Amino acid sequence: MTPPAAATSNQPAAVLAQAARRRTFAVISHPDAGKSTLTEALALHAHAITAAGATHGKAGRKATVSDWMEMEQARGISISSTALQFEYEDTVFNLVDTPGHADFSEDTYRVLSAVDFAVMLLDGGKGLEPQTLKLFDVCRRSGIPVITLVNKWDRPGLDALELMDQIQTEIDLHPTPLTWPVGIAGDFRGVIDRRDDTCIEYLRTAGGATIAPQAIHTPDEASELFGEVWSAAREEVDLLDASDSTYDPETFLAGTSTPVLFAAAALNFGIGQLLETMLTVAPAPAPRPGADGQLRPVDADFSAFVFKIQAGMNTAHRDHVAFARICSGVFRRGDVLTHAQSGRPFATKYAQSLFGRERETAEIAFPGDVIGLVNASQLAIGDTLFADSPVQFPPIPSFAPEHFAVIRARDTGRYKQFRRGIEQLDREGVVQVLRSNLRGDQAPVLAAVGPMQFEVVVDRLKREFSTEVSLDHLDYQLALQVDRAGADTVNSSAGAEVLERTDGTLLAVFTDRWRMQRIARAHPDLTLESLAAGV
Ligand code: GDP
Repeated sequence: MTPPAAATSNQPAAVLAQAARRRTFAVISHPDAGKSTLTEALALHAHAITAAGATHGKAGRKATVSDWMEMEQARGISISSTALQFEYEDTVFNLVDTPGHADFSEDTYRVLSAVDFAVMLLDGGKGLEPQTLKLFDVCRRSGIPVITLVNKWDRPGLDALELMDQIQTEIDLHPTPLTWPVGIAGDFRGVIDRRDDTCIEYLRTAGGATIAPQAIHTPDEASELFGEVWSAAREEVDLLDASDSTYDPETFLAGTSTPVLFAAAALNFGIGQLLETMLTVAPAPAPRPGADGQLRPVDADFSAFVFKIQAGMNTAHRDHVAFARICSGVFRRGDVLTHAQSGRPFATKYAQSLFGRERETAEIAFPGDVIGLVNASQLAIGDTLFADSPVQFPPIPSFAPEHFAVIRARDTGRYKQFRRGIEQLDREGVVQVLRSNLRGDQAPVLAAVGPMQFEVVVDRLKREFSTEVSLDHLDYQLALQVDRAGADTVNSSAGAEVLERTDGTLLAVFTDRWRMQRIARAHPDLTLESLAAGV
């Protein structure tokens, strides 16, 4: 994490140079497609700068307790285990981790707000799978460019052209392969590099534990070496040429086409090409629009927004880390920042160390980097921090909840702790907390995208706030935004009510779509708007 000395100054040119050599991305995939394996392969190829292995290995999607205790003692700042940072060919990659469980997909959506592009990882035997589709949809709506990596090509799977067809027809994304496999799925010899028609032959190593050696061949050499396997691949590339499936930077950045690569992450095949592609075609951090629509240049003074909050890992201490993506300027440990939402100063001077396996201090960080701010309980998801010139980034869209439950403290004597806990969890974005005058303060309604969020709330209130609660599930399944004028209408209808989110948004909730449509038809003046996250 030590940049060249000449580039550590606040000079705009130095900041621009640092931003230009950064690539901040996430991997979107369905469970089991090979995300952990790919992460490890990338770290192997590159020089991992701050590898917080605990969160990336398959065995530990959660940091271990000892990591968190160390962090708690440090009370400092950290480059997060949420982002794996590695360097390759003088480019700094920030791989922002996306949680695996489908119930927590809302977290994943938030993570996608912090990246500049995504790698869509497909299992070559399965193609597009449900969770990939959901996540791709978020990328599309947010305008995030997507590079596609077809994984597990060493195993029997689908036909490569068929896979391209699936991407084109199912998600209307134009595939433009940069490499093309030599050998069908299950017989992975190498790839054709479409830029110059050379053949990159992948050679196996025992167990795939080291970087796979590769040999470069001219088309003639490849033809001699692979015979029919080579000519079959060549013919398919001719088809791609004829169908205008050639990489196009403009449509890639606009999110309508996707460069495609083939790989076998477990064997380290194709990983070098992925890194190369990210380095050459993927976007570096660019100016971000503030809530007022004005672009904040990357060389403006420091600004960042919080996209993830992690807390409650350690029962003995109240740990609380806010992860922020830097949008502009330089971050230096010790800087005093301003919290845009409250206008209060936010000190980073107790910054000490990285948690995770490798202790390292986040002394300095640049646009595209992710910083972990420890003991930042006043920060909420979507909040902005800045150094001098004020900016406020737009809120991260929250998703329409589909599960609702009334929560109450079992012991009314613990109401104060209960309220504090609920407010805390609301700020962290663990769950949405909805209120209404009709229900009163003692019994707010929790709203979630997935029911597992409720379990987390119950567990954390018990462990961190010593408060036992009861949950009563409500029959609602659908939430839409309503204005004040329409609130009475909804409240006087059966099977519906209006609840207020902490940010003041009014949610009309309904038992089902049919009921909602009936109410809407009976009251043509009623305006109901979709809550689904857009941009
Ligand atoms: P995740 O759930 O997406 O993180 O998937 P993992 O990285 O844990 O991989 C799921 C399974 O697929 C594991 O058993 C991996 O060893 C296996 N796997 C991952 N990549 C490859 C690959 O390129 N080839 C083969 N044959 N197996 C792979």
